[in-house]
Amino acid sequence: MPEEIVKQLSEIDIRASIVNATRGEIDRMPLPGLHEVLWESREYLGWRDPQSRHRGYLVHWTDGRPVGIVLRESDASLTRGISAMCALCRTAQPAHQVSMFTAPRAGEAGRNGNTIGTYICADLACSLLIRITPAAQPLHPDPAEIIADRAEGLLQRVQAFTADILRTA
Ligand SMILES: [Zn+2]
Repeated sequence: MPEEIVKQLSEIDIRASIVNATRGEIDRMPLPGLHEVLWESREYLGWRDPQSRHRGYLVHWTDGRPVGIVLRESDASLTRGISAMCALCRTAQPAHQVSMFTAPRAGEAGRNGNTIGTYICADLACSLLIRITPAAQPLHPDPAEIIADRAEGLLQRVQAFTADILRTA
C-alpha cells in the first residue's frame, strides 16, 4: 500500500495547504463535502469549482504535510473520438474525460505567469477510477494487487507534479 494516502483534512488544513494562489483566491475557494470523503482510498483529493468552471483543486500528502494546488483547465479540447490518457493515473479514456490543466508555479515564478501543464482526468477523481476492479488476467491474477500498483504509481506521479510546482528556479 502507498505510504502517504490522504489523511483526513479540515477546511482550515486545506486552505493552509495551497501553495500557488493568492490569499484572496484561497479565501474564495469552495470546498467539497469533506464528510463524504473516504480518506483512506484517496491518493489525492481533487475537486472542480462549481462557480468557476475552469478551476480545479488538488490536495495530497507529501513528507507528512498536505500540499494543495490550484489548477486551471485549458480551453483547448482534445479531438473528439480519440482516447486520451491521464498523466497522473495513466488511465486511457475517451478524450473529453481528460483535460489539459495548468498550474501556476509557487511563489514569484507563478506570479510572473510561469505555469506547468499536464493532462489529468477532467473530474479530478483519479483515485476513484483506479479502484474500478480490473478483470482477472492470466499473468496478474490478483485484482487487489493491480489496484495497489496503480495507487502507488498515482501517488508517485502526483507528488512529482506538485514537487515540480514547488521547485524554485
Ligand atoms: Zn486520472
